[in-house]
Amino acid sequence: MALIVQKYGGTSVGSIERIEAVAEKVIASKNQGHKVVVVVSAMSGETNRLMGLANEVQGQVAHGRELDVLLSTGEQVTIALLAMALQRRNCAAISTTGAQLNIRTDNKFNKARIQNIDAGLLHRSLDAGKVVVVAGFQGVDDEGNITTLGRGGSDTTAVAVAAAIKADECQIYTDVNGVYTTDPRVEPNARRLDSVTFEEMLEMASLGSKVLQIRAVEFAGKYDVPLRVLSTFSEGPGTLITLEDESMEDPLVSGIAFNRDEAQLTVKGVPDRPGVAAHILGPIADKNIEVDMIVQNVGSDGTTDFTFTVHRNDYERGMEVLENTVVELGGGEVGGDPHIVKLSLVGVGMRSHAGIASRMFTALAQEKINIRMISTSEIKISVVVDEKYLELGVRVLHEAFELDQEK
Ligand code: ADP
Ligand code: ASP
Ligand code: MG
Repeated sequence: MALIVQKYGGTSVGSIERIEAVAEKVIASKNQGHKVVVVVSAMSGETNRLMGLANEVQGQVAHGRELDVLLSTGEQVTIALLAMALQRRNCAAISTTGAQLNIRTDNKFNKARIQNIDAGLLHRSLDAGKVVVVAGFQGVDDEGNITTLGRGGSDTTAVAVAAAIKADECQIYTDVNGVYTTDPRVEPNARRLDSVTFEEMLEMASLGSKVLQIRAVEFAGKYDVPLRVLSTFSEGPGTLITLEDESMEDPLVSGIAFNRDEAQLTVKGVPDRPGVAAHILGPIADKNIEVDMIVQNVGSDGTTDFTFTVHRNDYERGMEVLENTVVELGGGEVGGDPHIVKLSLVGVGMRSHAGIASRMFTALAQEKINIRMISTSEIKISVVVDEKYLELGVRVLHEAFELDQEK
């Protein structure tokens, strides 16, 4: 007998028929003798729909306490329906919201972090023979306010619950049958990976692969939760997220991630003197705008150009901040482009191999894809290119590094 946490994403619970099918899957696991906790997302499209309503009322990108009260309702619908579907099949089940389960988070609305989960509550229901159906993506802060965990947060709920009850495995059921070399919706030749290391998965998630929320991977690594990504709709082993295995021959490049959510901001012709970077980025940070890539050109004629990327939602606000900054700096011209994307190669094997970057740049150049910015770390190389080159760029790199072939 094993203790298993299963998480079903939005598509997997996107209709009554699908919720019924999930109930059947859960019962099959239970009949194998396992104790099962199920974490569910809202029905597909529901969180976006709720966001849209909030944007209309707030007249901007919605945020704050009331947004979380609203967004958390999506998951409240699916836990109740799944618990009903289980009960109707004579399977004892109980639904619980994040607050009811006392999933304690900090008080950062819309992107709260889980701090503690009361495992006792879960164990009591499990020991009574029930399937516990937990609402993903939400918790409660010390003052009793409902919080949500950021988009994709149900993955993190599942891993945190698995860590709290020391589950034998956390299974993330979704609409693809594992983690691929890149998003199979963009590159049909993408290949499923049998396993991927935590480190690589962390990079992929942080560079834009939405198959797992980054915090879920962080949590799983920190608390040693065996994590597997599988398909709701077909059988198969899926992808296991593993610790790095010394005996494995590391592929140079394991995957390609991309991020469509970034925008580029530029200040041209600012006075080239010490402190200018701090002067530009200080006011940006004061507005809680996160900065990703940064490039400052070598100065000439006493001036320099400074470029960085932010989340696309922060583009307009970032521009406003920069307009003020150039006035204070006594020179410079503000520009920007929200139509950019970041493409990244990820692989632990990159550590020991030079030449990957030049292979990457050559492949992009052959397709006349202009690179606007570059950044590297031990196990990744990222480039910023025009949005229109996203699909082409991914396919070209996938081919250049022969990712469709088993290594
Ligand atoms: P869920 O609603 O089940 O949480 P998501 O849409 O959040 O599902 O995540 C699954 C999607 O992630 C897939 O449909 C796929 O398009 C996308 N994806 C992006 N990168 C990858 C990758 N490397 N491997 C597999 N899927 C990926
Ligand atoms: N429903 C939430 C979202 O769409 C959480 C999740 O599905 O993981 O972001
Ligand atoms: Mg998801």
